[in-house]
Amino acid sequence: MFRERWLGFIALACLSLCIGVGAAHYFKYRSAYDKNVEQIIETSQFQLRFTARSFTRLKAQVSSTFKLTGNNRALKDYVQSENPIDKKRVEEVWQALANYQRFFKQIRFVDNTGQEKIKVSFSNQDQKAEISTDYHFFGEPYYLRFAHSIANNTIGNLGPMLETSSIDKEKSLTPVQYAITPFEINGVRKGYLVLTIDIWLVKSMLDYSPQPEFIPQLLTSSGDYVAHPNAEMLFGFSIRHRKIHNLALTHNDLWQDMLVNGSGITQVESGLYVYRLIDLSASKSMYALIHFSNQQLSQHVSEDYTEIVESAVLIMFLILVACVPFVHIAYDFKRKKVDSSLALAALNGMTAVIVCDSRYRVLKVNKELERMTGYVDGQIHLRKIRKLFFKSQEGFSWLSIYESVKNNGQWEGELVIRVGNGAEIITLTRVQALLDDKGNLTNYIISIVDISERKELEERLRYLSERDELSQLWNRRKFEQELRSEAELFQRYPESHVGYLALLDIDYFKRINDNQGHDEGDRVIRRVADCLVENTRKTDSVSRIGGEEFAIIMKHTKAEDAQIILERIRMAIETDPQHTVTISIGYTDIISDSSACYKYADIALFESKSLGRNKVSRCESTDDIA
Ligand code: GH3
Ligand code: MG
Ligand code: MG
Repeated sequence: MFRERWLGFIALACLSLCIGVGAAHYFKYRSAYDKNVEQIIETSQFQLRFTARSFTRLKAQVSSTFKLTGNNRALKDYVQSENPIDKKRVEEVWQALANYQRFFKQIRFVDNTGQEKIKVSFSNQDQKAEISTDYHFFGEPYYLRFAHSIANNTIGNLGPMLETSSIDKEKSLTPVQYAITPFEINGVRKGYLVLTIDIWLVKSMLDYSPQPEFIPQLLTSSGDYVAHPNAEMLFGFSIRHRKIHNLALTHNDLWQDMLVNGSGITQVESGLYVYRLIDLSASKSMYALIHFSNQQLSQHVSEDYTEIVESAVLIMFLILVACVPFVHIAYDFKRKKVDSSLALAALNGMTAVIVCDSRYRVLKVNKELERMTGYVDGQIHLRKIRKLFFKSQEGFSWLSIYESVKNNGQWEGELVIRVGNGAEIITLTRVQALLDDKGNLTNYIISIVDISERKELEERLRYLSERDELSQLWNRRKFEQELRSEAELFQRYPESHVGYLALLDIDYFKRINDNQGHDEGDRVIRRVADCLVENTRKTDSVSRIGGEEFAIIMKHTKAEDAQIILERIRMAIETDPQHTVTISIGYTDIISDSSACYKYADIALFESKSLGRNKVSRCESTDDIA
């Protein structure tokens, strides 16, 4: 039962500790996770700021490129004269420019009809700009319409749109953006300067990031992807079957957030999104977006996670491992503690204890026994307890104790024992045999309670209950008891046991009370009582059995002696100077019937009264009183 409770307790403690460790580690993980998310957001925002700044720089470059090319003398000359030498000079400048800028896929001059006139193209593959003579009409008809709508000295942006590279050997679709500005001479619009910006190239140049996952996706202001790790999702704006890959359709909540906030952070079911609006021009914008799926977010803390789990598992394992010996130690400790405290409690309790060997020799005694007897533990080692403590008592034999312990395993009873200073104390003693597992006797445990005081108290109470308060003689109850006891002894030893009962009554006592008061009456009673005690033997029992009536049981007394004693008493009272009363006495021999005996004595007393009082009369049990 005790073991189960402990095991239960330890199991509970283990469980609580493990839950505690688990919870602590869970919070540690949550905190690491949150910190990681914070870090991701911070890095993403930094990345997006960098991207936006780069696009701003691009805008500035576009503007400065237009300024440079627009103010170019050779271009003006060419437009006015169409001189091939001027054209050549323009082409050379542009070629140098394209090689330097790199993200201008094409630099073109188209006339007001949309016809390409000068064209320099930059090949991504060869990483160099080439002069092109393969002139076409400037794109779709609406391109030209758009160009016409652009005010002088401003830049219009068209796109993004997909373009098939004619320069690159492998023909691929490239998202491009057209930056267009009108070209005029003396306020007359002569055509347009068109910069084709390779968005991917720009992006790849701008989005340098040490961690690939922080490279932003690009989206048009309608939610179509321009740059995305999954190529199949790109260009929904111009490839019909990819229209579905539109953020506004797939992640409307996020898209609404983006439209409202422009830049910000949104965490939805599909993960964490950090986005930023990028202005390409006053009317054109794009979104740069960095997305982290929940899995990616977790992966980021996977190292921490593994570490945390490892640490938690290790701690839990240690708790469990530590618990095993702990349980053992705790259980053992508790058991031993209980055992020893039981033993100590038994040894040092209220009871004096002697531990003996199988031959009743002292092995150990406790403090209470030392206190009770005055012996010290070691001093009485291996001494026989019978000789040491127990005096031979009348009507008592050690053999009866031995027998009882042998038969019943124990003995209990009152014993008078002799202590160190020779004094005797009354004890309640218990002898208990201790057996080993095989039933062999190994020890005796003797517990002794000192009941001397209790006995004394009992004696005192009994004395008080048998004494007459006024006269300090025995009272009537004790008298009757004594008389019965004497009667019994007579019955048992009719030949040898002789004794007499005398009844005594103060003569005319009423007068004392009447004439001298009750107190004087009491004093006389006390004085007569003293007189009776003074004139009787110790073995005689003197009682006050009524108001002014007394009784004396005279043990081992013959008839002649009784007469003499009673006469002496009568005379002593008569002649006592301390009062004026006399006493009448009647006595009889004690027989087996105590009531009859009393009656005979009473008859004798009546006779004394009848004869004039102050007399001693006898009535033998053999007298015929009928
Ligand atoms: P007699 O025995 O000689 O015939 O005369 P008596 O006056 O002694 O007669 P009785 O036995 O009738 O009276 C006893 C009186 O003792 C009656 C009662 O008032 C008185 N008495 C009894 N007990 C006490 C007591 O304890 N103290 C005192 N002062 N008087 C007591
Ligand atoms: Mg009387
Ligand atoms: Mg009287």
